Amino acid sequence: MSRVYLNLGSNMGDSFYYLLNAISKLDKLDMTKVTKVSKFYKTKAWGYKEQNDFINCCVELETKLLPYKLLSEINNIELSLNRIREVHWGPRTIDIDIIFYDNLRIESEKLTVPHKYYKQRNFVLVPLLDIIWDKKQIIKYIDKNSFSELKEYEYSKKIGISACLLGYNVKYNGGNNYTKLYAQTLKLDYLKICPETFGGLSILRVPSEIKGDKVFSKRGEDLSEEFKIGAIKTLERLKKYGVDIIVMKSKSPSCGYGKVYDGTFTEKLIEGNGRTVEFLLENNIKIISY
Ligand code: AMP
Repeated sequence: MSRVYLNLGSNMGDSFYYLLNAISKLDKLDMTKVTKVSKFYKTKAWGYKEQNDFINCCVELETKLLPYKLLSEINNIELSLNRIREVHWGPRTIDIDIIFYDNLRIESEKLTVPHKYYKQRNFVLVPLLDIIWDKKQIIKYIDKNSFSELKEYEYSKKIGISACLLGYNVKYNGGNNYTKLYAQTLKLDYLKICPETFGGLSILRVPSEIKGDKVFSKRGEDLSEEFKIGAIKTLERLKKYGVDIIVMKSKSPSCGYGKVYDGTFTEKLIEGNGRTVEFLLENNIKIISY
């Protein structure tokens, strides 16, 4: 495993959502885990100044992906989060830079590691200091004069999350989908939800899949109404707590985003959204799929 440090930044749209989404996508990369996340910081734009403030953070990864493969995966994540670039060093929904890759030194057209500018950038150094073991190597470069340009950013709202991702046993089989990233690494104020239990389905239940505009259990019962109630109750709960970002368990007939099972109970995925996700999107809730 290699240890990698990345810097993430966003200054377009809902920056906190883009950062969280990028961190989730990094954690889901093949042979890769996000092992630490720094605090979030609000920072003045660097380079091209006529733009909104950035929110930045650093993450530590453990990965078996080699540097160029990791870079291409990072580029894919940036693309998938619709980064729109018009001006070099201009506004962007998400920017992810590789700061360190173990102790490797690479200087090529595509990749420079350690990152070319990290020593000049407090918005890289300060978050790095939160998570890196060798703090002495970092602290000496921090520009104390412009330190005040960097403010800790605390997201003031709760983040909705599928309860199974936090380790609650609410899955159809009585199990969970414990995910260290949310349960331990990212300490946020979570509002846990489980649309299927909100819809009145018991915790030990027969699995269900979407078929056309209905949802059926594996035994053939039509559970469309339960899934509809689950979606409505989820939205009510999010509204009650002023939540507009939610992390949803992938592929599920309620929480899947982009892909769901095809209704044949044969593990085949097709394009589509779970019932709750579809309803939340119609109501302007931002979804992160995990
Ligand atoms: P920027 O969006 O301004 O950070 O530039 C992105 C481009 O910089 C990518 O296409 C990479 O090929 C190149 N690049 C060079 N070194 C790095 C690095 N350490 N991390 C990320 N991108 C890098």
